[in-house]
Amino acid sequence: MRITEIYQSIQGESSYAGLPCIFVRTTGCDLRCTWCDSEFSFYGGQSMSIDEIIERVTSYSAKLVELTGGEPLLQKELPVLANRLIDLGYTVMVETGGHRDISLLNHQVIKIVDIKCPDSGESEKVFWSNINSLSNQDQLKFVIASRKDYEWARQTIKERNLEGRFELLFSPAHTTLKPADLAEWILSDGLKVRLQLQLHKYIWSANARGV
Ligand code: SF4
Repeated sequence: MRITEIYQSIQGESSYAGLPCIFVRTTGCDLRCTWCDSEFSFYGGQSMSIDEIIERVTSYSAKLVELTGGEPLLQKELPVLANRLIDLGYTVMVETGGHRDISLLNHQVIKIVDIKCPDSGESEKVFWSNINSLSNQDQLKFVIASRKDYEWARQTIKERNLEGRFELLFSPAHTTLKPADLAEWILSDGLKVRLQLQLHKYIWSANARGV
């Protein structure tokens, strides 16, 4: 597998935010979101076998692992890695851009699936059939960069009947939307979504790597 970095930190997103977590970041992505904060993972990286990855993961103390990217589902061996980690007793999360089929992943994997809003420039690529492969432990993440994105997300939740079926995460794009504005809109509309901040960017800094 092609790997950009493996490190232990605090999970900054999702309903698992705040917990110690080991991140396995794969290399390469076939999307180009306008606000991407992981461009360093598009190229380079190093080739690692599943055994080598597991050796690194088990050298840390956390029992929660996130497989992320880049786009982790570009790595053909990802489902095997996830299964090996589950067999070792880890809680495994996979965060995907939401444009690739997640049905190959073990049902025990917690899937964090991005639903790309219009300002990302990639909303036409959402693979909507993924919704049918999700269970109520899985989470849909909308990165909101503007009022337009917010209204699109609100409408999408209604039209696709998503409320109550999955954890819905609304995350303000770090550089373009103030969390307070998003909070006000959510409260004003009474949306049953979770406002999430990228905790790691507040603990360390927006551009910090490997933490
Ligand atoms: S899917 Fe993720 S890694 Fe890929 S361009 Fe979008 S934000 Fe960046």
